Amino acid sequence: MNPDELEKRKILSIVSPAYNESANLDEFYSRVISATKDLNLEVEIVYVNDGSQDNTIDVMLNQRKNDKRISIIDLSRNFGKEIALTAGLDHASGDAIVIIDADLQDPPELINEFVKHWRAGYDVVSAKRSKREGESHLKKLTSYVYYRLLFLLSDINIPKDTGDFRLLDRKALEALLKLREKHRYMKGLFAWVGFKQLEIEYERDARFKGKTKWNYFSLLNLAFDGLTSFSVLPLRMASIVGVFSAMIAFLYGAFITVKTVFFGDPVAGYSSLVVIITFIGGIQLLALGIIGEYLGRIFNETKNRPLYIVKNAQSSMFFSKNLNEKSI
Ligand code: UDP
Ligand code: MG
Repeated sequence: MNPDELEKRKILSIVSPAYNESANLDEFYSRVISATKDLNLEVEIVYVNDGSQDNTIDVMLNQRKNDKRISIIDLSRNFGKEIALTAGLDHASGDAIVIIDADLQDPPELINEFVKHWRAGYDVVSAKRSKREGESHLKKLTSYVYYRLLFLLSDINIPKDTGDFRLLDRKALEALLKLREKHRYMKGLFAWVGFKQLEIEYERDARFKGKTKWNYFSLLNLAFDGLTSFSVLPLRMASIVGVFSAMIAFLYGAFITVKTVFFGDPVAGYSSLVVIITFIGGIQLLALGIIGEYLGRIFNETKNRPLYIVKNAQSSMFFSKNLNEKSI
């Protein structure tokens, strides 16, 4: 067999989590198929339906009727993007795996570029956003600040302004799948596994149809590392209350100081006392809240629940080649 034919038998899995994306999936499918047709690879599409409330699942099933290269993992409810993505990765059979959003914000045409670098020997090729269309200034600003803060605070080097849009070689994926933690901050996990990584720049498009599933509260939650932590919420409130009381104490302190300096202070020592008590109180709540954040995570990890529940799965014709059964 010549090397070309050997190459042909390699599989490229396109993994895409979808939550209420029925309006985008047909366009997504045709763009992915036409973008990958000249790659000389077998293409598998792994859709994860993340508990959509619209008819996303019907659109998927309809596509699969005509194309058995599609896998559909239908989750029992909405688990959030990070977990849905993990479900898709668990079921991908490819030698290389591309992670891509179903809303066409990540242009499928870039997959060609990914594959080129993969063939040149890179294990992880990720796409760095040089421009973000259709997102508010506030979102761009907060995400700019957040990534810089994360960079300062974390000890692994998490690339800035990089989404989940990337290609992974099988061996990088196998390493990633060994990490089964519940609070999955995927960008951090990708960085943690290492391997030969490359970043390429691209311009992020606006969504094709529909609107983003993230709001500021859910982004804050992601920033706090978890999406679904109902019982951790009270602990989180402690940190928020702590921050607020520290802020109020600071403002009140400034007020008392100005008042004392300009208008005198009939009770000696009173102002400094109030400032100190409220300030220390705020700091204590903040510290308790932070401990609570970690405790909440330990609590969630120890429950040892599965990451997700599959309601229904339809495998592609490539299923089980390369598949790590243990991880499912
Ligand atoms: N998504 C998901 N589960 C969710 C939220 C989002 O599977 O709970 C999917 C969504 O369908 C899309 C991708 O994750 O394919 C990115 O979501 P979105 O476009 O809302 O995020 P943004 O691009 O604004 O960061
Ligand atoms: Mg999007």
